[in-house]
Amino acid sequence: MAFYVTTPIYYVNAEPHLGHAYTTIAADILARHMRQRGEDVFFLTGTDEHGEPVELAAEREGIGPQELADRNAPKFERMMRLIEASNDFFIRTSDPRHVERVAEIMQRVFDNNHVYEGIYEGWYCPRCADFKTERELGPGNTCPIHEIPLLKEREQNWFFRLSSFQDDLERLYAERRDFVVPEHRYNEALSFIEQGLEDVSLSRPKLKWGMKLPWDSSQRMYVWFDALLNYVTALSFAHQGEDLTGRYWPADYQVMAKDILKFHAVIWPALLQAADLEVPKRLAIHGFLLMGEKKMSKSLGNVLDPNKVVETFGADALRHYCFRAVSFGNDGSVSAAGFEERYEAELANEYGNLASRTLAMVERYRNGVIPEAEHDPALVGGEDGFDGLVGRVEELLDRAELTQALAEIWERVRRLNRYVEESRPWDLDDDDSDVERLDQVLYSLAEGLRVVTLLLHPYMPATSQRLLVALAESGRRPAAFGSRGGGQRTERIAPLFPKLET
Ligand SMILES: [Zn+2]
Repeated sequence: MAFYVTTPIYYVNAEPHLGHAYTTIAADILARHMRQRGEDVFFLTGTDEHGEPVELAAEREGIGPQELADRNAPKFERMMRLIEASNDFFIRTSDPRHVERVAEIMQRVFDNNHVYEGIYEGWYCPRCADFKTERELGPGNTCPIHEIPLLKEREQNWFFRLSSFQDDLERLYAERRDFVVPEHRYNEALSFIEQGLEDVSLSRPKLKWGMKLPWDSSQRMYVWFDALLNYVTALSFAHQGEDLTGRYWPADYQVMAKDILKFHAVIWPALLQAADLEVPKRLAIHGFLLMGEKKMSKSLGNVLDPNKVVETFGADALRHYCFRAVSFGNDGSVSAAGFEERYEAELANEYGNLASRTLAMVERYRNGVIPEAEHDPALVGGEDGFDGLVGRVEELLDRAELTQALAEIWERVRRLNRYVEESRPWDLDDDDSDVERLDQVLYSLAEGLRVVTLLLHPYMPATSQRLLVALAESGRRPAAFGSRGGGQRTERIAPLFPKLET
């Protein structure tokens, strides 16, 4: 089955930061997990290069907007590689192929009579590239996000008839309770719709850096329309000579932060319907990573800079931290000190230690060959047993419950560590009569480690790759506990998560 997942495209007027990395890693986890399950996955990310924010940033630097885009887009592409994002394509909206496809789609919106000409008067924030309604204004007519005073602007615009989609959107939300996850974001979007939709400005005459309207070249398109359509246009040119639209559209998951919910949950489905296109299956909305305590950490200073984290600890440690420290869907605090604590406690002491002692004991007691034995029933049942684990994780990831799925897996990492303490393999080795028991314990440990490592692959791709090679596992599909017999030769590996030098 086809599975198409997207991130928002990121504005090229700023440097890539932790927020961009977080959204991208979330989408990457879904992409990698679905690839593991054998689905036909397409994962898209990219940069948003038109609009006033880019124009203004370029002006400040004394260069043209295309030059700014050309300078900054590669920084985002580098970030994708840094965090091990496995995107299949990176779209840039200044790409002429995108521009051409947007013109076609918007012409269809025009032909279908969903636009009209009118006067717009409102409070405009150039940094948001968005008009604010009276309700949304901050104190003293300011932008609530950027906290800058706004000017009332009046101009001739083309409008998109968003109001005419009131019933369609209400029906969409009634029929598809999982159109937006988590549920509180669904409720937020629905309540926005239920307050009554107003038509939105589609073009601006003053904008210099943006696409011209195909039916009125005196006006340029409001950047959000051009940006939203990237999710569809990319499919038509991502593969040379092949149009993937029929294969992947509508998207299965569109992942984004909560600040762009309104555009994606309201305007986007209306725009798609206006263009005779299907709406995406689900939007997954996450909260903000808030920089918490400013306590110094030993190796990162007091700022959680993704570049520095990856350079010092590797991408997997960052990927793990983001989804352990903050519940996906909600806001949560992150910090450099918190990162280091979790790195030591969970990656070095729990998972890393489980891996190294399992491999070491197989080496020491069975010459590096995983024994052939029955798995220990003690690990199967109970709250943190392995029974039903794969199905549970798959079901959670189907609902984009990234933190809960990881928590399920991590409970089993902890269960295996407790199992080592309970079964005391070093005592079993003292007594020859316990050969079978030691075989069972070692087999069960190696098998449990294989199962959790396969499930951790989407979260920690590089680590899981190393460990699966050491466990002589060539497959990558999630596997049930006890589904592989013994007999494989293991390899010793250097610590997966070396302890910090103090
Ligand atoms: Zn603003």
